Amino acid sequence: MESPPLDSGLRSRVHTGGVSAGCPLSGTAGKAVALATIKGLLQEPALRRLSAGGRHHFCPDPSCEIVYFDNAGGLYRTSDVRVPVWEKEPFGARVICYCFGENEAEMREESRLTGRSTAVERVRAHIAVGRCACEIRNPRGVCCLSDLAEAVERCGRAAEKDGPREESPRRIMKNEETRECDEIRERVTKPDASHRRAGCG
Ligand SMILES: [Zn+2]
Repeated sequence: MESPPLDSGLRSRVHTGGVSAGCPLSGTAGKAVALATIKGLLQEPALRRLSAGGRHHFCPDPSCEIVYFDNAGGLYRTSDVRVPVWEKEPFGARVICYCFGENEAEMREESRLTGRSTAVERVRAHIAVGRCACEIRNPRGVCCLSDLAEAVERCGRAAEKDGPREESPRRIMKNEETRECDEIRERVTKPDASHRRAGCG
């Protein structure tokens, strides 16, 4: 098998598995990404300079603008990628699941209203019937489920800070409405009783 020349240090790092070379800008350990993922997600000008023969890595550092780097010196920044890379964006409205659009804003609202987002369960159901396309839609090229599970927790904590759930006041209001309805129903179904109460009997 032909492989590009590597110095011994880099070779040993590459051979330790998914985590290998560091990002040239931040020094963060990169995660190996398949070429097909990068080809699908680069903007056209960036794709025109892609070194397709090298090994490509994703830089997970939130403060670093490099998304991909390769062992031929190629760098691909957030502006070179067709979708916002959530790892590089501030918490708030980030899309975590690139296949089905599960995002922090909606998960947070769901948490606030129901107590917990079921985003993971929703995506699992899609995966179960073969709809998942993480290898070409997720910039990291891997399944989003573990990221999504963390995001659910994060959004749940944020929702707690948003204040008490709307559910409680709503329930009270509902009870009041129900009580009022019961009173009306009582008046309608028991005309004698209401007449007596109103002093008509
Ligand atoms: Zn980096």
